Amino acid sequence: MRLTERGERVARSRHPWIFSGAITEVLGEPEAGTAVDVRSRDGTLLGRGLFNPHSQIRVRLYTDRDEPLDAAFFAARVEAAARLRTEVLGLGDPKGASRLVFSEGDHLSGLTVDRYGSHLVVLLTGLGISKHLEPILDALEGSLAPEGIVLRTEKGMAEAEGLIIEDGVLRGRMPEEPVEIVEGDLRFAVDLRTGQKTGFYLDQRENRRRAAAYAPGREVADVCSYSGGFSVAATWAGAERAVAVDVSQPALELAASNAERNDVAAAVETVRANAFDWLSEQAERGRRYGMVVVDPPRFARSRRGVPAALKAYRRLNGLALRCLGEGGALVTFSCSGRVSEVDFQAAVAQAAEDAGRRLRFVERLAQAADHPVSSDCPESAYLKGFVAIAD
Ligand code: SAH
Repeated sequence: MRLTERGERVARSRHPWIFSGAITEVLGEPEAGTAVDVRSRDGTLLGRGLFNPHSQIRVRLYTDRDEPLDAAFFAARVEAAARLRTEVLGLGDPKGASRLVFSEGDHLSGLTVDRYGSHLVVLLTGLGISKHLEPILDALEGSLAPEGIVLRTEKGMAEAEGLIIEDGVLRGRMPEEPVEIVEGDLRFAVDLRTGQKTGFYLDQRENRRRAAAYAPGREVADVCSYSGGFSVAATWAGAERAVAVDVSQPALELAASNAERNDVAAAVETVRANAFDWLSEQAERGRRYGMVVVDPPRFARSRRGVPAALKAYRRLNGLALRCLGEGGALVTFSCSGRVSEVDFQAAVAQAAEDAGRRLRFVERLAQAADHPVSSDCPESAYLKGFVAIAD
Protein backbone atom coordinates (compact mmCIF):
# COMPACT_ATOMS: atom_id res chain seq x y z
CA MET A 1 0.00 0.00 0.00
CA ARG A 2 1.37 3.42 -0.90
CA LEU A 3 0.21 6.74 0.47
CA THR A 4 -0.04 10.41 -0.35
CA GLU A 5 2.70 12.63 1.04
CA ARG A 6 0.48 13.61 3.93
CA GLY A 7 -0.45 9.98 4.48
CA GLU A 8 3.24 9.07 4.62
CA ARG A 9 3.81 11.68 7.29
CA VAL A 10 0.93 10.21 9.30
CA ALA A 11 2.29 6.67 8.95
CA ARG A 12 5.81 7.82 9.89
CA SER A 13 4.40 9.41 13.04
CA ARG A 14 3.00 5.91 13.78
CA HIS A 15 -0.54 7.24 13.98
CA PRO A 16 -2.67 4.08 13.87
CA TRP A 17 -5.33 5.36 11.44
CA ILE A 18 -4.71 5.44 7.69
CA PHE A 19 -7.81 6.96 6.07
CA SER A 20 -9.01 5.95 2.61
CA GLY A 21 -8.14 9.39 1.17
CA ALA A 22 -4.47 8.92 2.08
CA ILE A 23 -4.04 5.81 -0.08
CA THR A 24 -2.78 6.20 -3.64
CA GLU A 25 -2.03 2.61 -4.56
CA VAL A 26 -2.92 -0.87 -3.35
CA LEU A 27 -0.80 -3.71 -4.69
CA GLY A 28 -2.76 -6.94 -4.85
CA GLU A 29 -6.32 -7.47 -3.66
CA PRO A 30 -6.26 -7.80 0.10
CA GLU A 31 -9.41 -9.12 1.73
CA ALA A 32 -11.02 -7.48 4.74
CA GLY A 33 -8.90 -8.14 7.80
CA THR A 34 -5.69 -9.06 5.92
CA ALA A 35 -2.34 -7.84 7.24
CA VAL A 36 -0.88 -5.23 4.89
CA ASP A 37 2.40 -3.33 4.70
CA VAL A 38 2.42 0.40 4.24
CA ARG A 39 5.54 1.46 2.33
CA SER A 40 7.05 4.79 1.39
CA ARG A 41 7.79 5.67 -2.25
CA ASP A 42 11.31 4.28 -1.91
CA GLY A 43 9.94 1.02 -0.57
CA THR A 44 10.79 1.47 3.12
CA LEU A 45 8.36 -0.24 5.51
CA LEU A 46 6.46 2.48 7.41
CA GLY A 47 4.03 0.28 9.25
CA ARG A 48 2.07 -2.94 9.26
CA GLY A 49 -1.62 -3.08 9.91
CA LEU A 50 -4.98 -4.67 9.14
CA PHE A 51 -6.92 -3.73 6.02
CA ASN A 52 -10.63 -2.96 5.92
CA PRO A 53 -12.14 -1.92 2.56
CA HIS A 54 -15.48 -1.12 4.29
CA SER A 55 -14.14 1.47 6.71
CA GLN A 56 -13.04 5.07 6.29
CA ILE A 57 -10.10 3.95 8.44
CA ARG A 58 -8.79 1.76 5.65
CA VAL A 59 -5.79 0.45 7.59
CA ARG A 60 -5.31 0.29 11.34
CA LEU A 61 -1.58 0.15 12.05
CA TYR A 62 -0.26 -2.01 14.87
CA THR A 63 3.51 -1.92 14.41
CA ASP A 64 6.31 -0.14 12.56
CA ARG A 65 8.49 -3.25 12.69
CA ASP A 66 8.83 -6.21 10.37
CA GLU A 67 6.98 -8.65 12.62
CA PRO A 68 3.99 -10.90 11.90
CA LEU A 69 0.55 -9.75 13.10
CA ASP A 70 -0.31 -13.20 14.36
CA ALA A 71 -1.83 -14.83 17.43
CA ALA A 72 1.37 -14.40 19.47
CA PHE A 73 1.56 -10.70 18.56
CA PHE A 74 -1.97 -9.88 19.73
CA ALA A 75 -1.66 -12.11 22.81
CA ALA A 76 1.53 -10.28 23.86
CA ARG A 77 -0.15 -6.87 23.45
CA VAL A 78 -3.16 -7.97 25.50
CA GLU A 79 -0.92 -9.40 28.23
CA ALA A 80 1.08 -6.15 28.38
CA ALA A 81 -2.16 -4.18 28.68
CA ALA A 82 -3.42 -6.41 31.52
CA ARG A 83 -0.07 -6.18 33.36
CA LEU A 84 -0.17 -2.38 33.25
CA ARG A 85 -3.45 -2.41 35.21
CA THR A 86 -2.54 -5.07 37.74
CA GLU A 87 1.20 -4.52 38.30
CA VAL A 88 1.70 -0.81 37.62
CA LEU A 89 -1.62 0.94 38.25
CA GLY A 90 -2.70 -1.20 41.21
CA LEU A 91 -6.16 -1.82 39.77
CA GLY A 92 -6.25 -5.54 40.47
CA ASP A 93 -8.90 -5.56 43.27
CA PRO A 94 -10.95 -8.67 42.40
CA LYS A 95 -14.20 -6.87 43.37
CA GLY A 96 -13.24 -3.71 41.51
CA ALA A 97 -13.46 -2.77 37.86
CA SER A 98 -10.93 -1.49 35.39
CA ARG A 99 -10.38 -0.99 31.70
CA LEU A 100 -7.95 -3.75 30.72
CA VAL A 101 -7.49 -2.82 27.09
CA PHE A 102 -8.10 0.66 25.71
CA SER A 103 -7.94 0.40 21.93
CA GLU A 104 -5.44 2.95 20.51
CA GLY A 105 -4.31 3.80 24.06
CA ASP A 106 -2.86 0.28 24.31
CA HIS A 107 -1.77 0.12 20.66
CA LEU A 108 -4.68 -2.23 19.95
CA SER A 109 -6.90 -0.12 17.72
CA GLY A 110 -10.44 -1.51 17.61
CA LEU A 111 -10.35 -3.53 20.85
CA THR A 112 -11.62 -2.46 24.26
CA VAL A 113 -11.90 -4.81 27.24
CA ASP A 114 -13.33 -3.90 30.65
CA ARG A 115 -13.15 -6.04 33.76
CA TYR A 116 -16.11 -5.93 36.13
CA GLY A 117 -15.14 -8.08 39.10
CA SER A 118 -14.59 -11.56 37.67
CA HIS A 119 -16.34 -10.82 34.36
CA LEU A 120 -14.94 -9.31 31.21
CA VAL A 121 -16.72 -7.29 28.54
CA VAL A 122 -15.13 -7.09 25.09
CA LEU A 123 -16.13 -4.18 22.87
CA LEU A 124 -15.05 -4.45 19.23
CA THR A 125 -14.80 -1.32 17.11
CA GLY A 126 -12.52 -2.64 14.36
CA LEU A 127 -13.11 -5.41 11.86
CA GLY A 128 -9.45 -6.40 11.38
CA ILE A 129 -8.79 -7.14 15.02
CA SER A 130 -12.09 -9.05 15.29
CA LYS A 131 -10.46 -11.77 13.15
CA HIS A 132 -7.94 -12.30 15.95
CA LEU A 133 -10.53 -12.62 18.67
CA GLU A 134 -9.73 -16.23 19.65
CA PRO A 135 -6.04 -15.68 20.60
CA ILE A 136 -7.11 -12.46 22.35
CA LEU A 137 -9.67 -14.38 24.43
CA ASP A 138 -7.07 -17.06 25.20
CA ALA A 139 -4.67 -14.37 26.42
CA LEU A 140 -7.39 -12.77 28.58
CA GLU A 141 -8.26 -16.13 30.13
CA GLY A 142 -4.58 -16.90 30.69
CA SER A 143 -3.90 -13.54 32.39
CA LEU A 144 -7.09 -13.14 34.42
CA ALA A 145 -8.99 -16.44 34.65
CA PRO A 146 -12.40 -14.68 34.40
CA GLU A 147 -15.70 -16.43 35.14
CA GLY A 148 -17.07 -15.28 31.82
CA ILE A 149 -16.40 -13.05 28.82
CA VAL A 150 -19.20 -11.29 26.95
CA LEU A 151 -19.08 -9.45 23.62
CA ARG A 152 -20.66 -6.05 23.01
CA THR A 153 -20.64 -4.04 19.79
CA GLU A 154 -21.93 -0.54 19.14
CA LYS A 155 -24.42 -0.57 16.34
CA GLY A 156 -23.21 2.53 14.49
CA MET A 157 -19.60 1.50 14.86
CA ALA A 158 -20.24 -2.03 13.62
CA GLU A 159 -21.98 -0.64 10.54
CA ALA A 160 -19.14 1.79 9.81
CA GLU A 161 -16.67 -1.10 9.97
CA GLY A 162 -18.77 -3.70 8.13
CA LEU A 163 -18.50 -5.79 11.27
CA ILE A 164 -21.08 -8.56 11.34
CA ILE A 165 -20.91 -10.15 14.73
CA GLU A 166 -23.45 -11.07 17.38
CA ASP A 167 -23.35 -9.82 20.93
CA GLY A 168 -23.33 -12.59 23.49
CA VAL A 169 -21.33 -14.79 25.82
CA LEU A 170 -17.97 -15.76 24.31
CA ARG A 171 -16.46 -17.80 27.13
CA GLY A 172 -17.59 -19.17 30.48
CA ARG A 173 -20.78 -17.97 32.15
CA MET A 174 -22.38 -14.56 32.53
CA PRO A 175 -24.97 -13.71 35.19
CA GLU A 176 -28.45 -12.55 34.12
CA GLU A 177 -28.44 -9.96 36.91
CA PRO A 178 -26.33 -6.81 36.92
CA VAL A 179 -22.89 -7.37 38.48
CA GLU A 180 -21.86 -5.35 41.53
CA ILE A 181 -18.50 -3.60 41.51
CA VAL A 182 -16.68 -1.69 44.23
CA GLU A 183 -15.17 1.76 43.58
CA GLY A 184 -13.55 3.16 46.71
CA ASP A 185 -16.32 3.26 49.36
CA LEU A 186 -19.04 2.94 46.73
CA ARG A 187 -20.82 0.05 45.07
CA PHE A 188 -22.33 0.15 41.63
CA ALA A 189 -24.54 -2.24 39.69
CA VAL A 190 -23.34 -2.79 36.14
CA ASP A 191 -25.55 -4.31 33.49
CA LEU A 192 -23.10 -6.19 31.29
CA ARG A 193 -25.64 -7.19 28.66
CA THR A 194 -27.67 -4.09 27.99
CA GLY A 195 -25.86 -1.21 29.72
CA GLN A 196 -24.38 1.65 27.66
CA LYS A 197 -20.98 0.93 26.08
CA THR A 198 -19.54 -1.87 28.22
CA GLY A 199 -21.86 -1.05 31.16
CA PHE A 200 -20.17 1.65 33.24
CA TYR A 201 -18.11 4.81 32.76
CA LEU A 202 -14.83 3.72 34.32
CA ASP A 203 -13.08 6.71 32.75
CA GLN A 204 -14.79 8.97 35.35
CA ARG A 205 -13.58 6.98 38.39
CA GLU A 206 -11.14 9.62 39.69
CA ASN A 207 -13.39 12.49 38.64
CA ARG A 208 -16.31 11.17 40.71
CA ARG A 209 -13.96 11.25 43.69
CA ARG A 210 -12.69 14.74 42.82
CA ALA A 211 -16.17 16.15 42.26
CA ALA A 212 -17.39 14.64 45.55
CA ALA A 213 -14.83 16.78 47.40
CA TYR A 214 -16.88 19.89 46.47
CA ALA A 215 -20.23 18.32 47.30
CA PRO A 216 -20.70 18.51 51.10
CA GLY A 217 -23.67 20.69 52.01
CA ARG A 218 -24.55 21.47 48.40
CA GLU A 219 -27.49 20.62 46.19
CA VAL A 220 -26.20 18.86 43.09
CA ALA A 221 -27.56 18.67 39.55
CA ASP A 222 -26.01 15.63 37.81
CA VAL A 223 -26.80 16.30 34.17
CA CYS A 224 -26.35 13.33 31.81
CA SER A 225 -26.06 11.07 34.82
CA TYR A 226 -26.25 7.61 33.25
CA SER A 227 -26.26 5.21 36.24
CA GLY A 228 -25.80 8.03 38.75
CA GLY A 229 -22.08 7.79 39.49
CA PHE A 230 -21.67 11.48 40.31
CA SER A 231 -24.96 11.66 42.26
CA VAL A 232 -24.03 8.69 44.43
CA ALA A 233 -20.46 9.89 45.02
CA ALA A 234 -21.69 13.41 45.88
CA THR A 235 -24.45 12.40 48.30
CA TRP A 236 -22.21 9.79 49.94
CA ALA A 237 -19.69 12.60 50.53
CA GLY A 238 -22.36 14.78 52.16
CA ALA A 239 -24.26 16.64 49.45
CA GLU A 240 -27.72 17.65 50.68
CA ARG A 241 -29.35 16.09 47.68
CA ALA A 242 -28.69 15.26 44.04
CA VAL A 243 -30.91 15.23 40.98
CA ALA A 244 -29.79 12.75 38.32
CA VAL A 245 -31.00 13.86 34.88
CA ASP A 246 -30.79 11.65 31.79
CA VAL A 247 -32.85 10.91 28.67
CA SER A 248 -32.55 7.19 29.21
CA GLN A 249 -35.08 5.49 31.47
CA PRO A 250 -32.96 2.31 31.95
CA ALA A 251 -30.02 4.53 32.97
CA LEU A 252 -32.18 6.24 35.60
CA GLU A 253 -33.40 2.90 36.93
CA LEU A 254 -29.77 1.87 37.42
CA ALA A 255 -29.11 5.25 39.09
CA ALA A 256 -31.97 4.67 41.55
CA SER A 257 -30.72 1.16 42.33
CA ASN A 258 -27.18 2.48 42.81
CA ALA A 259 -28.44 5.13 45.22
CA GLU A 260 -30.18 2.39 47.22
CA ARG A 261 -27.11 0.17 47.23
CA ASN A 262 -25.14 2.98 48.87
CA ASP A 263 -27.88 4.02 51.34
CA VAL A 264 -28.31 7.45 49.78
CA ALA A 265 -31.66 6.82 48.06
CA ALA A 266 -33.40 9.44 50.24
CA ALA A 267 -31.08 12.11 48.83
CA VAL A 268 -31.10 11.11 45.14
CA GLU A 269 -33.94 11.99 42.80
CA THR A 270 -34.04 10.90 39.15
CA VAL A 271 -35.58 12.93 36.33
CA ARG A 272 -36.02 11.79 32.77
CA ALA A 273 -35.39 14.81 30.54
CA ASN A 274 -33.33 16.33 27.80
CA ALA A 275 -30.36 18.12 29.38
CA PHE A 276 -30.85 21.38 27.45
CA ASP A 277 -34.60 21.53 28.17
CA TRP A 278 -34.24 20.64 31.83
CA LEU A 279 -31.49 23.20 32.49
CA SER A 280 -33.46 25.93 30.66
CA GLU A 281 -36.53 25.16 32.70
CA GLN A 282 -34.63 25.16 36.00
CA ALA A 283 -33.02 28.48 35.09
CA GLU A 284 -36.38 30.03 34.22
CA ARG A 285 -37.86 28.88 37.48
CA GLY A 286 -34.96 30.47 39.34
CA ARG A 287 -33.72 27.14 40.73
CA ARG A 288 -30.09 27.39 41.80
CA TYR A 289 -27.76 24.51 42.64
CA GLY A 290 -24.50 24.49 44.57
CA MET A 291 -22.91 22.16 42.07
CA VAL A 292 -23.76 21.25 38.48
CA VAL A 293 -22.10 18.28 36.80
CA VAL A 294 -22.38 18.24 33.00
CA ASP A 295 -21.21 15.04 31.31
CA PRO A 296 -22.84 14.82 27.87
CA PRO A 297 -22.20 12.14 25.24
CA ARG A 298 -19.63 12.71 22.50
CA PHE A 299 -20.69 15.78 20.48
CA ALA A 300 -18.00 15.56 17.73
CA ARG A 301 -17.71 12.30 15.84
CA SER A 302 -15.19 13.56 13.29
CA ARG A 303 -12.93 16.54 12.73
CA ARG A 304 -15.65 18.17 10.63
CA GLY A 305 -18.03 17.99 13.58
CA VAL A 306 -15.81 20.04 15.90
CA PRO A 307 -17.22 23.57 15.32
CA ALA A 308 -20.81 22.42 15.92
CA ALA A 309 -19.68 20.48 18.99
CA LEU A 310 -17.99 23.56 20.46
CA LYS A 311 -21.20 25.53 19.96
CA ALA A 312 -23.18 22.84 21.75
CA TYR A 313 -20.70 22.77 24.66
CA ARG A 314 -20.96 26.55 24.90
CA ARG A 315 -24.75 26.44 24.98
CA LEU A 316 -24.99 23.56 27.46
CA ASN A 317 -22.46 25.10 29.85
CA GLY A 318 -24.15 28.49 29.56
CA LEU A 319 -27.41 26.89 30.65
CA ALA A 320 -25.65 25.04 33.47
CA LEU A 321 -24.18 28.32 34.73
CA ARG A 322 -27.63 29.88 34.81
CA CYS A 323 -28.59 27.18 37.32
CA LEU A 324 -25.52 27.61 39.48
CA GLY A 325 -25.70 29.68 42.66
CA GLU A 326 -23.06 32.17 43.79
CA GLY A 327 -19.84 30.34 44.62
CA GLY A 328 -21.24 27.20 42.98
CA ALA A 329 -19.03 24.53 41.41
CA LEU A 330 -19.34 23.70 37.73
CA VAL A 331 -17.95 20.24 36.94
CA THR A 332 -17.96 19.97 33.18
CA PHE A 333 -16.72 17.42 30.68
CA SER A 334 -16.14 16.78 26.99
CA CYS A 335 -15.52 13.21 25.82
CA SER A 336 -14.95 14.15 22.16
CA GLY A 337 -11.47 12.98 21.16
CA ARG A 338 -11.43 15.56 18.38
CA VAL A 339 -12.06 18.50 20.71
CA SER A 340 -8.87 19.76 22.38
CA GLU A 341 -8.73 20.70 26.03
CA VAL A 342 -7.82 24.27 25.07
CA ASP A 343 -10.82 24.64 22.77
CA PHE A 344 -13.15 23.07 25.31
CA GLN A 345 -11.97 25.44 28.03
CA ALA A 346 -12.48 28.36 25.65
CA ALA A 347 -16.06 27.18 25.00
CA VAL A 348 -16.72 27.06 28.75
CA ALA A 349 -15.20 30.53 29.17
CA GLN A 350 -17.48 31.83 26.40
CA ALA A 351 -20.42 30.22 28.13
CA ALA A 352 -19.51 32.15 31.28
CA GLU A 353 -19.49 35.38 29.31
CA ASP A 354 -22.87 34.51 27.77
CA ALA A 355 -24.30 33.84 31.22
CA GLY A 356 -22.80 37.02 32.69
CA ARG A 357 -20.71 35.02 35.16
CA ARG A 358 -17.01 34.79 35.94
CA LEU A 359 -15.28 31.49 36.54
CA ARG A 360 -12.21 30.47 38.41
CA PHE A 361 -10.97 27.17 37.00
CA VAL A 362 -9.61 25.25 39.98
CA GLU A 363 -9.04 21.76 38.59
CA ARG A 364 -8.31 20.05 35.30
CA LEU A 365 -9.74 16.58 34.96
CA ALA A 366 -9.03 13.76 32.53
CA GLN A 367 -9.75 10.10 31.86
CA ALA A 368 -8.56 7.63 34.52
CA ALA A 369 -5.10 6.05 34.23
CA ASP A 370 -6.48 2.75 32.93
CA HIS A 371 -7.46 4.69 29.79
CA PRO A 372 -3.88 5.47 28.71
CA VAL A 373 -3.08 8.00 26.02
CA SER A 374 -0.84 6.65 23.26
CA SER A 375 2.04 8.87 22.16
CA ASP A 376 1.08 7.83 18.61
CA CYS A 377 -2.57 8.91 18.81
CA PRO A 378 -3.48 12.30 20.29
CA GLU A 379 -7.20 11.47 19.90
CA SER A 380 -6.83 8.80 22.58
CA ALA A 381 -6.79 11.72 25.09
CA TYR A 382 -10.53 12.06 24.70
CA LEU A 383 -11.92 12.97 28.12
CA LYS A 384 -11.26 16.44 29.47
CA GLY A 385 -13.00 18.33 32.20
CA PHE A 386 -12.79 21.22 34.62
CA VAL A 387 -13.97 22.16 38.04
CA ALA A 388 -14.69 25.87 38.00
CA ILE A 389 -16.09 28.06 40.75
CA ALA A 390 -18.59 30.66 39.56
CA ASP A 391 -18.61 34.11 41.17
N1 SAH B 1 -21.97 10.84 34.03
C1 SAH B 1 -22.13 9.45 33.69
C2 SAH B 1 -21.81 9.15 32.26
C3 SAH B 1 -22.60 9.94 31.25
S1 SAH B 1 -22.59 9.30 29.64
C4 SAH B 1 -21.32 8.58 34.64
O1 SAH B 1 -20.47 9.08 35.38
O2 SAH B 1 -21.54 7.37 34.65
C5 SAH B 1 -23.72 10.35 28.83
C6 SAH B 1 -25.17 10.20 29.23
O3 SAH B 1 -25.91 11.23 28.59
C7 SAH B 1 -25.83 8.91 28.80
O4 SAH B 1 -26.36 8.26 29.92
C8 SAH B 1 -26.97 9.34 27.85
O5 SAH B 1 -28.16 8.57 28.03
C9 SAH B 1 -27.19 10.75 28.27
N2 SAH B 1 -27.76 11.66 27.27
C10 SAH B 1 -27.51 11.70 25.94
N3 SAH B 1 -28.14 12.74 25.36
C11 SAH B 1 -28.79 13.39 26.36
C12 SAH B 1 -29.62 14.56 26.42
N4 SAH B 1 -29.86 15.27 25.31
N5 SAH B 1 -30.13 14.92 27.60
C13 SAH B 1 -29.88 14.19 28.73
N6 SAH B 1 -29.10 13.10 28.73
C14 SAH B 1 -28.54 12.71 27.58
